[in-house]
Amino acid sequence: MGYSALVRRAPERSVPEGRVPAGRGGGEARVGIEIRGGGETRGIRTGDEAHVGSERPATAHTLLRAHLMGMIRDDGPISRSELSRAIGLPRSTITALVAELLSEGVIAEAPARSGGAGSGSGRPATLLSVRKPDGLVAGFDFGHRHIRVAVATAEGHILAEESTHLDVDREADASLDHAGEMLDVVLERAGVSIGDVRAAAACIPAPLNSRTGRVGSPTILASWVDLDPREELRRRTGLACTLGNDAAFGALGEMTYGAARNMSDFIYVKASNGIGAALVLGGRLYRGAQGMAGEIGHTQIDPTGAWCRCGNRGCLEATVSIDVVRRQLEPLGLDPLDPEDMEHPVAIKVLAESGRTVGVVIANLCNTLNPEAVILGGDLASTGAYFTNGVRDSVRHLAQPGPALDTQVMPTSLHGRAELLGAVAAAAAMPHAALTA
Ligand SMILES: [Zn+2]
Repeated sequence: MGYSALVRRAPERSVPEGRVPAGRGGGEARVGIEIRGGGETRGIRTGDEAHVGSERPATAHTLLRAHLMGMIRDDGPISRSELSRAIGLPRSTITALVAELLSEGVIAEAPARSGGAGSGSGRPATLLSVRKPDGLVAGFDFGHRHIRVAVATAEGHILAEESTHLDVDREADASLDHAGEMLDVVLERAGVSIGDVRAAAACIPAPLNSRTGRVGSPTILASWVDLDPREELRRRTGLACTLGNDAAFGALGEMTYGAARNMSDFIYVKASNGIGAALVLGGRLYRGAQGMAGEIGHTQIDPTGAWCRCGNRGCLEATVSIDVVRRQLEPLGLDPLDPEDMEHPVAIKVLAESGRTVGVVIANLCNTLNPEAVILGGDLASTGAYFTNGVRDSVRHLAQPGPALDTQVMPTSLHGRAELLGAVAAAAAMPHAALTA
């Protein structure tokens, strides 16, 4: 039975089997069952019982795609006319399938040389070839007290990741050295080499001057101020690196892989050792004139309060942070990162009150910006529901009644990895990469 018969027996599918949405590991499936082993699948011509891959029955459409891909890979660059003649199907059928493969990015087309294959019809022909893989990307997440590094596919599938605790604030050089060494570890664990990585992105826990790409405040992350983080990472890894603020990358992670995939107006708050926000308005990050927007951690909430790393007193993040919570709970032997410990009555009180304090500042932001949602990330959000509930209490009580009731206050859906996944997304230049500094 030839391909014409197969096509008549099964209507074309609008979504080929084995595909998953882009950005959710789609690339692996996209280049998986239909393409691999094109040599074998080209021989399958006997009917619908044929299988491509191990589980799903192959439809006529899948088989035809596989056959077409096999020909393009083995015989390409090749024109549509040549494919049509070789396969024995009308040019219109081939054109439709080629359009599908082009839209998925699995093949590419380039103009034929004059007089070369496929020319002669009056209109310049184009030749089709299998698109080379985009390569892998690396993501770096620098927090005030941690570094996370991952190597991932361009579609956001993490192959290996590593994290470590370190005083990033005070030890800029050591942190950058560590990051370079951690990249070697994740590459080895993933079984790939640095040559397989085509781009990298890193976020740091400080505002970035949008003109210079350097730390934009002389007091926050002071040991990094004289460094060019992009150049420092390039020197240690050999990779071109996109740089961003940690909360901005957290928002990018949520927009690409998490709860904000369908949101255009939301606030992402990273509450760990510091507290920073990313303001996404109309689908774009609002950075302000110098890239300083969203530094809510330095909102003064108590003029006589504790001194802050920024030089002021009573800043929000000098009053509430995972370090402050840890110090408050230390006498009881409770660890804020231990979920069981956080069910202790004192821990519940401390977390709820911390949430309510952060919520006061967020409620004011809600009145100003009227976001659809507030997404809470960072170590404080990872302690459990009490912190989030505290934030929600303040927003309900203090934001204006209409917007407050409509604004969702939720923890991150990415389990503490929003910033790292945002770095992967930025490196892969996926949608929303305009968020990067
Ligand atoms: Zn401050």
